[in-house]
Amino acid sequence: MTGPRIAIVGAGPAGCYTADQLTRRLPDARIDVYDRLPTPYGLVRGGVAPDHQGTKAIVRQFERTFARENVRFRGNVEVGRDVAYADLKAAYHAVVIASGALEDRRLDIPGEDLAGVYGSGRFVGWYNGIPDCSGLAPRLDGPAAAIIGNGNVALDIARILGKTPAELSASDICTHAVAQLAQAGLTDIYLIGRRGPCEAAFSAAELAELGRLERVAPCVDAPIPVEPPVDWDEARRKAALKNLEILRNFAAAEQSGKPLRLHFLFQATPVAIEGQGAVATLKLSRRLPTDGQVTEHALPVSTVITAIGYRASPIPGVPFDTGRGIVKHEEGRVESGVWTTGWCKRGPQGVIPANRSDALATADAIAASLAATAQPDKPGGGVIDTRLRDRGIQVVDFAGWRRIDAHEVAAGQGKPREKLVATATLLAAARQPETAR
Ligand code: NAP
Repeated sequence: MTGPRIAIVGAGPAGCYTADQLTRRLPDARIDVYDRLPTPYGLVRGGVAPDHQGTKAIVRQFERTFARENVRFRGNVEVGRDVAYADLKAAYHAVVIASGALEDRRLDIPGEDLAGVYGSGRFVGWYNGIPDCSGLAPRLDGPAAAIIGNGNVALDIARILGKTPAELSASDICTHAVAQLAQAGLTDIYLIGRRGPCEAAFSAAELAELGRLERVAPCVDAPIPVEPPVDWDEARRKAALKNLEILRNFAAAEQSGKPLRLHFLFQATPVAIEGQGAVATLKLSRRLPTDGQVTEHALPVSTVITAIGYRASPIPGVPFDTGRGIVKHEEGRVESGVWTTGWCKRGPQGVIPANRSDALATADAIAASLAATAQPDKPGGGVIDTRLRDRGIQVVDFAGWRRIDAHEVAAGQGKPREKLVATATLLAAARQPETAR
């Protein structure tokens, strides 16, 4: 048999790490990495905050994987729409589902579908230039907006809303978003946590950043505990202690007169969003830290952004756990010849490098499985290429992505890049002959 043929669905960190690990274990494998977008790197391009360029440096490593002769990028191909999952199983010895968690979780409260309510995935996709989100044009007229959730995504959004155009100038945020943010009339942002400051999921570095912004005054309205519960494990206590110290410093800071107040509201559970056609009020049920009493609050806001986590999107034919919003699997194995890795396997938890250990385990399992039984001949990606060509689908290969990349970097003019945000322009840039720069 020639080397094994392997398809990976999803060119985000989980898929890229898995391709890399597979090339180390199975040097004669031929690996095709499919993505629904014409661009690779998934969350690194579309999710990581545009002002956290250091986090995006991981793509240098993924570029080396795609530069290998036996790894192909197959962009602009949606599995389940452009090519059937069953066709991948027939063509490849192994299929890895690494399609991430792209759908916003819902609050399941009345008023969630009013105009002015956005899930963090769509909102972040708007300023990060994901083609199906870049036309969002969110309501930011103010004066107040609420962000629901106490995770790092909530802090990313608060920081991007709070930064001045000058503070965003070294980022790769899309120009359409900077223009709209500059026009925004926000004076108050409420960051809503349904539990207390000890239980907040955000990390200290991200929290501290909010205290260094030019026009943002962090405001803490409740007493902050001195320390987390003593029975918590060391790592959890350490993380919470750092957050508590930063929050106490925010509370103690003098009122600065900065024009945008960022209020931390803890123990506040959203119960309804109200308004005539568009959001006007966010109703909260709050447990007071002083006497533990529960009271109802009506917060006047014209924008609500939920940052409460994500679900994977089911791919037709791929076993799916609807309750948990992940691919159905047992220790990463979905069914014969099929594995899953990354957020669509574990749920939306953990930083980008966490996908590496997951990819390692996935590659080990695939290598062991392929070695255990004699493998039949399989046609590999060629047969899928033909099918996509017959259907008139423009597949973007890695050379095509490099043309898009060069185009965006050249358009950056001082920024790291100016992203192309429409599928048609991305595909056109992928087709153009590379211009000498
Ligand atoms: P997350 O860390 O899981 O935080 C989700 C937040 O939403 C939690 O505070 C959670 O509260 C709250 N929540 C969930 N359901 C809710 C509901 N029905 N009502 C009110 N609040 C609700 O998720 P994330 O912020 O989306 O981040 C995803 C992962 O990416 C995390 O591992 C994160 O650290 C990582 N990330 C890292 C960075 C970075 O390192 N800079 C940046 C972005 C994301 P409970 O705790 O009460 O459930």
